[in-house]
Amino acid sequence: MTGPAFAADTSLPGVTVMPSPNHGPRAAGAAVDLLVLHYTGMPDGSAALRRMCQAEAQVSAHYMVEEDGRIFQLVPEARRAWHAGVARWRGRADVNSHSIGIEIVNPGHEFGYRPFPAVQMQAVAALCRDILDRHPAILPGGVVAHADVAPARKEDPGELFDWPFLADQGVGLFPAPVAGAGGDAAALLRQIGYPLGEDGAETPEGLRAALVAFQRRYRPSELTGQADAGTLAMLTAVARALKPEESIR
Ligand SMILES: [Zn+2]
Repeated sequence: MTGPAFAADTSLPGVTVMPSPNHGPRAAGAAVDLLVLHYTGMPDGSAALRRMCQAEAQVSAHYMVEEDGRIFQLVPEARRAWHAGVARWRGRADVNSHSIGIEIVNPGHEFGYRPFPAVQMQAVAALCRDILDRHPAILPGGVVAHADVAPARKEDPGELFDWPFLADQGVGLFPAPVAGAGGDAAALLRQIGYPLGEDGAETPEGLRAALVAFQRRYRPSELTGQADAGTLAMLTAVARALKPEESIR
């Protein structure tokens, strides 16, 4: 079962449109200012593609990138795809209305997590750059992991994902750490956009989950949930790298 046919939003060559029925209208007036990156977390890409095209599954993403670099578009960018679930960023819920979602094929922590091949990372970078060119409201700090916007529930795309490579390609942030930085980890996480608990509440478990999500991305050798000196150095660097308009308080 598929959704109605549509033309690909991207002019990148070799994109296959595979219409999913799983989408709806974006919230009225919602600006598209986030790009959410996921891993599929299924044994292989064709299973993920099948699932996202089944109406019963109630899940989708705008794009999926295979391990060999092939790109599929499942949902038109103008529509609200169903990829982020219960999530929050910069104090705002309904991440799906404000975002474009890309599923990146990888078995994930449940089915044999493995490095993302270079050809796949190159395709992800090209697709992200194309999306950012067409959506200038997505600022560098608006390129986020699923784990960033749902730290208590999600790990993807995880600590093997090559964020430094993407930043080199002009996608997202990966600043040099600010050595010797002090500061309050909770305040810095909040400033960057992380939720520190469910439904806008802040809890010790929520802070710990946000720290692990931050570390998966910026300090993948230390998934401790502790604000050690290296983590504070990166938290400070990321907070300083944000544009003024995307920094909370
Ligand atoms: Zn995800």
